[in-house]
Amino acid sequence: MRTQKCHGRVIASFVGCTALVLAVTGTASAQPRNPDLAHQTLAANDGWAAFGTGTSGGAAADFAHVYTVTTWDAFKAALADGGSAPKIIKVKGTIDADGPSCASFAVPGYDFDTYLKTYDPAVWGRATNLDAEPDDSPEGLRRASAANQDAYIKANIPANTTIVGIGADAGFKGASLQIKGVDNVIVRNLTFESPLDCFPQWDPTDTADGNWNSEYDSAVVYGSTHVWIDHDTFTDGDHPDSTLPYYYGRIFEQHDGELDIVKGADYVTASWNVFADHDKTILIGNSDSASTAAVDRGHLKVTFHHNLFSNLVERAPRVRFGQVDSYNNHFVAGDGYGYSYGIGMESQLVAEHNAFTLPDGVGAGKILKKWKEAPLTADDNYVNGTPTDLIAVHNAQVPGEILQSGAGWTPVLRTKVDPAKAVPGIVDHCAGAGRLR
Ligand code: CA
Ligand code: CA
Repeated sequence: MRTQKCHGRVIASFVGCTALVLAVTGTASAQPRNPDLAHQTLAANDGWAAFGTGTSGGAAADFAHVYTVTTWDAFKAALADGGSAPKIIKVKGTIDADGPSCASFAVPGYDFDTYLKTYDPAVWGRATNLDAEPDDSPEGLRRASAANQDAYIKANIPANTTIVGIGADAGFKGASLQIKGVDNVIVRNLTFESPLDCFPQWDPTDTADGNWNSEYDSAVVYGSTHVWIDHDTFTDGDHPDSTLPYYYGRIFEQHDGELDIVKGADYVTASWNVFADHDKTILIGNSDSASTAAVDRGHLKVTFHHNLFSNLVERAPRVRFGQVDSYNNHFVAGDGYGYSYGIGMESQLVAEHNAFTLPDGVGAGKILKKWKEAPLTADDNYVNGTPTDLIAVHNAQVPGEILQSGAGWTPVLRTKVDPAKAVPGIVDHCAGAGRLR
C-alpha cells in the first residue's frame, strides 16, 4: 500500500515515466518507450539542474560504457574508462570504500600517542597551528598518512556520468565522491555512509578551545554544473558523532559534510534524498573571503525539494552567495538540534512550502540561523502542523539577530508543488535510496 502510493507519486513527478504507466496498462503503444532507471534524465523544469542544457548524465552511453560494479576498485576503474564519453555505472550492493583499516593508510613512524603528547595544549600551547610543522614531525607524518587515505577513498566523477544503485541496498561505505570541474552528472538510489577521517588535524587556534578538523564529504560538487542528486540516503550509519572519543577535551571529529557545493558550482537539484544523523550536513559556499566571493558570486544555484532532513545538527543547508530554492522538504529535529537554514554572506534563500517537526522545548526560532545580513523569502511553511512565519518567529525569539524578508528573486524551475501540510506524509514514505525500482 505504502509502496504503491510512493511509486505513484514518484512516477507522476517524472514526465518520462508517465509513458511507463501507460505502456504497462497497454493503452499507449504509440508513446515513446520509457527509459529504465539507469537511463532516466532530469525532467524539464525540475529545479536548477534543469536550467539551460539540463541534466542527462550518462543517458546517451553506448553499450561499451555501461558498467555494473560491486567493488571500489571496479567502480574507480569504470570512472577512469572512456574519458568524458557518456557512461552509466550501476552499483550493486554496498561497496566498501574505506580500505582495510586506518592503520593501512598510516606511513612508517606515524604514532597517534606521540601526536597527542607533542601537541597537547599543555606542551604546545594554543597560539600556533600545526601547518608549518616539518614532514618528519608527528604532524608531518599525519599529513602523509592522510594523503594515503585521501587518494584511496576519493573518486573523481567525469562529465556525462550517471551513477545509479540497482535494487534497494546499493551504496558506499566511507566513499568521497568528487564531482569536480565537470558538467552533467546524475547520482541516484544510493546510500552513503559518511567517510571517517582516520587522521583529523588538531588546530589549537580554531576557537578558544581548539578543534579536531577532518576532511571528506560523502559527495562534493566543486566548480561543477548540472548535477542531479536524487533518491539517495546520506547518514553517519554505524559511526554517529556520539560514538567518537574526546582528546584535549574536544570531540575527535572524524566527519565533514554529507553534500557540499562549493567553488562556483552551479545548477544543482537535490530531490527526494534523506540526509540523516549528522552534524554539519550541507555547505553551499565555503568561505566569505574575497577570493572565494569572486568565484562564487552569481553561482551556487541549487534546488532542494522533497528531501527528508532528519536528526541533523546544522547546515540543511548553510548558504553563501547562492540563489537556493528549498521547497517541500521535511525537517525533523532531534537531540542536539542547532539550526536548519544558515543565512550566510550574500545568500538569496527561498524556503517555501516546507514542513518542520520539532520536539518539545525546541522553538521554531531556531530553524533559521543568521550568519550575515542577507534577506530571504520564507512563505507557507508549517511547524508541527501549524502555518508559521519563520522570519517573524525567529526575530521574536532571537532579537539579537534580526532577519529581513525578500530574497529578491522568484523560483520558476519547479515541477509539482505539494501542500506544505502534506509534505511529511509524502516525503517520509518516498525519499531516500531503495524507493526506486
Ligand atoms: Ca573497510
Ligand atoms: Ca566539506
